[in-house]
Formats: sequence, C-alpha cells, structure tokens
Amino acid sequence: MSGSAKATGALVDVLVIGAGVTGIQQLYRAREEGFSVKVLEAGTGVGGTWYWNRYPEARFDSESYTYGFLFSKELWEEWEWSELFAGQPEIERYFNFVVDKFDLRRDIEFGVTVTSASFDEPTGTWTVRTGGGAEHRARYVVAATGVLSVPYYPAVEGRENFRGEQYHTGRWPKTPVDFTGKRVALIGTGSSGVQIVPAIADDVASLTVLQRTPDWCTPLNNGPISPQEQAELKAEFETIRETLNTSPSGFLHELPSRFSTEDSKEQRLAFFEKMWNSPGFSKLTTNYIDFTTNPEVNKEFCEFVADKIRGLVTDPATAEKLIPKNHLYAGRRPPFVTGYYEAYNKPTVQHVSLEQTPIVRVTETGIELTDGLREFDIIIWATGYDFGTGALNRLGVRGRDGLALEASWADGPSTYLGIVTAGFPNFFFPGGPHGALGNNPRYASDQVDCVIDVLEHAREYDYDVIEVDPAAEKDWTDTVNGSGSLFLESSYFFGSNIPGKAVKQLLNPTGRPNLQRLIAEQAEQKYSAFILSKVEEAAA
Ligand code: NAP
Repeated sequence: MSGSAKATGALVDVLVIGAGVTGIQQLYRAREEGFSVKVLEAGTGVGGTWYWNRYPEARFDSESYTYGFLFSKELWEEWEWSELFAGQPEIERYFNFVVDKFDLRRDIEFGVTVTSASFDEPTGTWTVRTGGGAEHRARYVVAATGVLSVPYYPAVEGRENFRGEQYHTGRWPKTPVDFTGKRVALIGTGSSGVQIVPAIADDVASLTVLQRTPDWCTPLNNGPISPQEQAELKAEFETIRETLNTSPSGFLHELPSRFSTEDSKEQRLAFFEKMWNSPGFSKLTTNYIDFTTNPEVNKEFCEFVADKIRGLVTDPATAEKLIPKNHLYAGRRPPFVTGYYEAYNKPTVQHVSLEQTPIVRVTETGIELTDGLREFDIIIWATGYDFGTGALNRLGVRGRDGLALEASWADGPSTYLGIVTAGFPNFFFPGGPHGALGNNPRYASDQVDCVIDVLEHAREYDYDVIEVDPAAEKDWTDTVNGSGSLFLESSYFFGSNIPGKAVKQLLNPTGRPNLQRLIAEQAEQKYSAFILSKVEEAAA
C-alpha cells in the first residue's frame, strides 16, 4: 500500500493534466458523459505543444481541418481555417475558440505545474500535488501531457555562460523576439529549425545554421483555403469525419494505388514530381505502395529530392551539405518546408556542418566550434524533445506500493494500447507513448474515447478501480517492440536523441486499424484486458 497520499481536497471524477489537443478533448468527452472534471495546465493558455511552440513560422504539417476536433458538426461549420496548413497564432486561436464555445475554460486551472500524483489504495483515488502547494483529489487521472512537451537541450558545455539571448523552440516566449540586425545561431534542423530559417532570414544581420544531420525536406505546399473549398468542407463534414475516423494515417490523402515496379523510370520521375508538388505528408502516404519497403524506389526518390536541392541552392558546396547521406526518405521524421533551401541563397544565411566542425562549448559571446569561436547575439536551440515518455516520467507518478512510473519504465514504456500501464490503477495517458503513427490527434481521439468507454463501463457496474491485466500489457508491449518500424532506431521515435534513455519504440508501429480493432474488441468483451474491482476488494 502506498499510504503516502493523504486525500484532503474535494474529489473530482476525472483530473486531466494538460490542456492541449488531447486534454481538451478528454475534458469535453468526460463532461459530456456526466463526469466531474478538472484540468491542470502549466501554461497560461490552452493549446499544449501549440501554446509553447510560438516560434516564427511554427505551423501545422497536417492539413488544418484534419488536425482539429471532429466531435461537433457545429464547431466544424463555425470555424474556418484560413490556410491548408495553419500557423501557430491561428492554431492557438482555434483552441481558445473551442474551449470558449463549449464553456470548457471554467474547468481548467492555468499556470499550475503538477509535481506529484500518488495512488491511494484504501480509497482507490489519486492525490495530485502542484508546485503551488495545492492538493487535488480524483478518482481517475488522465495525463494528457503529450509527446513533444519536454524540450531537450544538449549537454553543451557553457550554455549558462552565454550573455546574449537564448531560446528553445519548445519554450518560445510570448513577447516576440526581435531579430533585427542580430547575429543569430540556430542549432538543429528538424521540423522546427527548418521552419524558422526562412522566417527570420531577412530580419537578421546574420543567421548561422549549425547542422549535424540533414533531413529530406520537401515542400509543404501550403495555400489559402478558398471560399469554395470552405463551402465544400462544410457540406462534406460527415464524409470527411468518417474518412478521418477510419483512415490508417489519420489523413484524407489518397491511398497509394501502384507499385513502383509497374512504372517506367520516366513515369516514376513524373510521379515523384507530382509528389513533390503535393501537400505535406502525402509524399509519404500517397507514394508508391512499396515506397517504404523497397529501398530501390526510396533511393530513387531521394536522388530526385537531392537534385531538387541542387537546383534550389546556388552554392554547390552548401547544397551537398544539405543532402542527407546516411538515411533514406522517412528513415527519420520528414520535415516539410516553405522557402527553406532557397534561404541559403541569401547573403545573411550561412550553413555550418557540425559533422565537419563540432561544437566545443558555448562561451559568453558565442559558440566555439573546432575551427574557432563565432560570436552571436541570439542562440536558438531547435534541438528537439524528450519524446513520448518525457513528461510522464517527470510527473512524479506513484502507483501501487509507491511504485514510481519512471522506475517502472526505466527500460522503456510498457503499456496497453498506449493508454494504461500495470501497477497504476485509474491512471490513463492517451496521446502518449505507443500512441500514434500518423496524424496525432486522430489516434489520440480514439484513445480518449476508449478511456471514456472504460470509465462508463466501470460506472455502470459500480467498480472503483480499473487496472490493466499485466498479461495484456505484456502482449501489447511485446507486439509494439517486435513490430517493424518505418523509422530508424537512431531517430528520436526510439528515444535515441536523449543520452542514457532506453532505446525503445515510442510510437505505435502496429497502426491505427489494429488499435481501433483492439479498442472495439475490448468494448465487446466488456474490458477483459482490465482488472476491475471495488475498493474493499482492491484494498484486500
Ligand atoms: P528534432 O526533429 O528532434 O530535431 C532536433 C535537431 O536538433 C536535429 O537536427 C538534431 O540533430 C539537432 N541536435 C540535437 N542535439 C544536438 C547537438 N548536441 N548538437 C547539434 N545538433 C543537435 O526536433 P524538432 O525539430 O523540434 O521536431 C520535433 C518534432 O516536433 C517533429 O519531428 C515533429 O513531429 C514535431 N514538429 C512538427 C511541426 C509541424 O510542422 N507540425 C513543426 C515542428 C515540430 P541530429 O539529427 O544530428 O541529432
């Protein structure tokens, strides 16, 4: 028995941690089903990752209307996304619109950081403590803390000594950063870094992009949504929702229809051109059927993209440095760009390969590389996140017998359907590790609905304690860890970017149809993968 958690505050049914895309949906659904709910959010506003990532040109690379909520036709009809891929300010406005429209804000406490969550076995409830010293009691805790919420700073010597300004993309300040006439260093060129480069290239005195590993960047192909398209979107809500609710990747993209081997080289090049001009992720989801299983066609696509880079970047030496050498397309999460390669043609932008001249240390005035010191006014760390488990492992979650979640997951996460883990009753984490492989909110909404269905089932049969059967968890986790993956083990999807972190699958490579099948099966089988009990039984 943990016994450490003293239950003192008013008891709510569901305490949600995080008011991002998953937390908002969990709040909406829980309230809709008659549960009392409270949400604790560290930020001063809603949006989660989209609240913190307010760096210049932060924007969706999932089509805007496929990322938003699908639970209300009225919402779909009232909100108009201005662009195919909306920018952060519009995304933040959307989340605010949603919480106000459905009067959700009254259940959200802002500026509150959770420091611990402990399960109390005699009562079957959780006590959640915050940095401000408050104590909240709940029957169920839903940690909707997201997968990209703990920024990662590499352990570069001297970072604290820098006298200029420093920012991480994942903790961008609300007051806009003034780049005018500044000497700026940008470290990291994943999806975040490559969005910033063209956004500030014209403002700065100089922008030095410090790149370790180039990625295969292809055009986002963004654009405004015309009034006619807006009308079509509204008219087709039911069809679109149905497609998004069943689509394997959570997108509306046309599915692949041909094997690369069915086409001649000329036809393949014409098809790649079509892919290059297609929006966002369709380069992956609509490409040849064998695109990710046949290295030959993937290599051919990479050669095609390399030629595009050579055509876009004037300086041949810079172009070569921007072409990935050690992975194929989608070996790492592909970024999508607007004007990124072209930015290197501007006199203000300089590319530095950290493979050739690694960082030695940060000094008071700049960054020392192996070939000398470069002075800067601003350093931008676009160096990524402790993906998947980062936030959950820092929440101070204590389950049965005081079991620490971070200890339980020391060798990587162990979950059932990416929703629950053994030893932590009445604790759920939709939208977390083992959750998605595609358009995140679509997978997360399957999981949010599953959480609500389990809670309703427990309520109907008067159970107090819900926990996953360790055998079911082992089965799912083994399947996840044993499934082939699109992404390389060296990518952050396996935690490889964080020194000392277990290298384990953090996505759900089994795919959405499998997740949905298992969720439906559980409902039919009255949650046979869960152990449901009443408090007296649980205590016994
Ligand atoms: P990321 O993809 O993990 O990229 C981090 C970058 O920092 C990499 O280029 C990495 O280089 C570099 N880096 C890390 N440690 C370094 C070190 N010690 N020295 C030099 N460079 C170092 O992070 P991100 O760009 O923030 O993107 C994370 C995820 O957020 C994306 O994959 C995506 O899922 C999401 N995102 C989405 C959008 C969108 O359009 N919707 C926008 C931004 C982000 P190495 O590769 O060599 O390690």
